Amino acid sequence: MITIETPNVRERLVELIQLQVLYNRLHALEQRKGDLPQQIEDLQDKIAALQLTSQGTHQQIQQCEAEIRTLHTSNDSLRDHEQKLQKLLLSVRNEQEYYKIESDLKEARLTIEKNLKDIQRLQQRVMVSQHKHEEELTHMAELQRLIAEKQENLDKIILRNKQQEEDLRERIQILSEHVQREDARLFHLFDRRRQSLRGGSALVSAIPLEGKEDRVICSGCYTLLPRQLQWQLYQRNTILICENCGRLLVDAALFEEVAASMP
Ligand SMILES: [Zn+2]
Repeated sequence: MITIETPNVRERLVELIQLQVLYNRLHALEQRKGDLPQQIEDLQDKIAALQLTSQGTHQQIQQCEAEIRTLHTSNDSLRDHEQKLQKLLLSVRNEQEYYKIESDLKEARLTIEKNLKDIQRLQQRVMVSQHKHEEELTHMAELQRLIAEKQENLDKIILRNKQQEEDLRERIQILSEHVQREDARLFHLFDRRRQSLRGGSALVSAIPLEGKEDRVICSGCYTLLPRQLQWQLYQRNTILICENCGRLLVDAALFEEVAASMP
């Protein structure tokens, strides 16, 4: 059983309860934000990922368009070549020459045709990618709108909390300084636990065990407290620590009494 000795235990107990109540109120204010900050962060991550995808799509479009331009240029020169060959056909000197030019002409026309098919295929790809890109941009704009909406809600909550938060912090500071002056060791013990424990609950009350009301459990970790500790708890003349979770323990009646008396 861990107990802390300090002069004027009753006063210190009351002050530590007061401190804990103020911290609990601060925590409750923080909870009002809910998971809005997390939601905003998740949406920002989604947008960042989408931006990368959309950049990729844009590059694909540019690449296809460049290929289309190259194919058009190639066809332009092939058509020039075709015209020249046609002219040459008019002045052939023998059959061999005629077949040679005919074969060149055929090859040029086949290449032009093949290029045209490639252009068509690429144009289709561009259309698909453009559609995809537009969808990505619309999706991003929608996510931006959602972020703005959530940020606005969060800002409203922060603004509403602001005054209360400042008041609480001021009261906490005054009280902390007082306890620290009275018993620095006790204060640091409380403060270290507050910073390391979930929800900042360094001090909790011992509450009756359901179905066995004559026994109490630590409301921080739900461990059954030994009878000896329970007895000491009700004496209120020593500061007790839960052996399982390390939280400072007070009896529920005292906690409620102090909490109720606070503005
Ligand atoms: Zn505990």
